[in-house]
Amino acid sequence: MNHEQSRALYDRALSVMPGGVNSSVRAVRPYPFFIEKGDGGHVVDADGNRYIDFVMGYGPLLLGHDLPEQVQAAVQQAAAEGPMYGAPTEVEVELAEFVTRHVPSVEMVRFVNSGTEATVSAVRLARGYTGRDKIVVMQGGYHGAQESTLVEGEGDHTHPSSPGIPESFAEHTLTVPFNDPEAAHEVFDEHGEDIAAVLTEPILGNYGIVQPVDGYHETLRELCDDHGSLLIFDEVITGFRVGGLQCAQGKFGIDPDITTFGKIVGGGFPVGAIGGKSEIVEQFTPAGDVFQSGTFSGHPVTMAAGLETLRYAAENDVYGHVDGLGERLRSGLQDILEDQAPEYTVVGTDSMFKVVFTREAPDSFEGHCEAGCQQREDCPRFEQCPKNGHDIKQAETERWERLFWPAMRDQGVFLTANQFESQFICDAHTDQDIEDALEAYKEAI
Ligand SMILES: *Cc1c(COP(=O)(O)O)cnc(C)c1O
Repeated sequence: MNHEQSRALYDRALSVMPGGVNSSVRAVRPYPFFIEKGDGGHVVDADGNRYIDFVMGYGPLLLGHDLPEQVQAAVQQAAAEGPMYGAPTEVEVELAEFVTRHVPSVEMVRFVNSGTEATVSAVRLARGYTGRDKIVVMQGGYHGAQESTLVEGEGDHTHPSSPGIPESFAEHTLTVPFNDPEAAHEVFDEHGEDIAAVLTEPILGNYGIVQPVDGYHETLRELCDDHGSLLIFDEVITGFRVGGLQCAQGKFGIDPDITTFGKIVGGGFPVGAIGGKSEIVEQFTPAGDVFQSGTFSGHPVTMAAGLETLRYAAENDVYGHVDGLGERLRSGLQDILEDQAPEYTVVGTDSMFKVVFTREAPDSFEGHCEAGCQQREDCPRFEQCPKNGHDIKQAETERWERLFWPAMRDQGVFLTANQFESQFICDAHTDQDIEDALEAYKEAI
């Protein structure tokens, strides 16, 4: 496989962009391949190499790269009529109606331009609504590039995880390990009266793919209710991906107060959204006092792309297709691991998947989760499978990145660039893609 064009492009990029990229995860070592174009479930790079694409833009592309006729037509029309106005349009009302109709907890929604902007605004909203400053986040959880959640450390011993963030931000952010109800109880025992919100992904989707253990979200819901705190589900990655149109909260039967969206809801264009109970979301300006605003918010092209993508998904059993392929891929991976690397763990659900290079195998595989770890207590892998950010961190990251990822690339399979980020199946993927991917895994693992 030749990568000369990509190499030359990266050489130019390094002179004019920090690290040669516009988002840090793209800076694959020694240099990334540059994409020339998408093609269904595949991408073609600048040197003409073709890959099965399981990155899918890091989550936004539910339908793949060839947008169906109705989506393409809606996008073209919105762009042709003038890209944006600074005044309301019908299409944003329609998308808001669609979201509130399908996502159980969401009565009202405010659209913004990125997942980061959504979580920033959701945290401000929770603080404004409760009049409290502290938020609780999960260790290893990701909520975008925002000051309040870029923290490391444990409990109330937190500090910023990046230079440039004042210590005082971290003072207001408490961390607990995901899937640890005791730690959640402790943090509420100590700080309950000051906690504005618990902010968590329903599934840790940016750090391995870690499913909740039985009862975990119910515990968080109860603790929030008992202490007058809000539960915020960050569904930027799981929204309209896990659980279909009802999102992960519908699948798990949890009723968060606020939900953040991004990725799929913009149909491949920059987007974020904050949804929730009217009483809370109406605290945003101009209905309420919590300042929220944006020149590009509710952008007509994005709104059209998001609306037609979700309509198409509703009308064409997209979730049946992608979840079915996900199931096949994860169970195929499970079989390969049992033969070749029993210490590794298949994780994922619906159309998300990953193989995490965990270090310990169970004694038996009798009756284990067949198509990705579901945190079933009676699964023989239960003790070994990762439960939180710390467990994921202990896995073999270097081997994953330096040996495994390039071996998959060389066989024409494009995976996310490190052990932590999820991979995705799209509507354009086929049975053949799954077979080809499994063959490549068999070689590379
Ligand atoms: C991607 C992601 C974000 C950040 O969204 P951006 O659009 O990249 O700003 C926030 N939270 C979660 C759970 C995400 O997956």
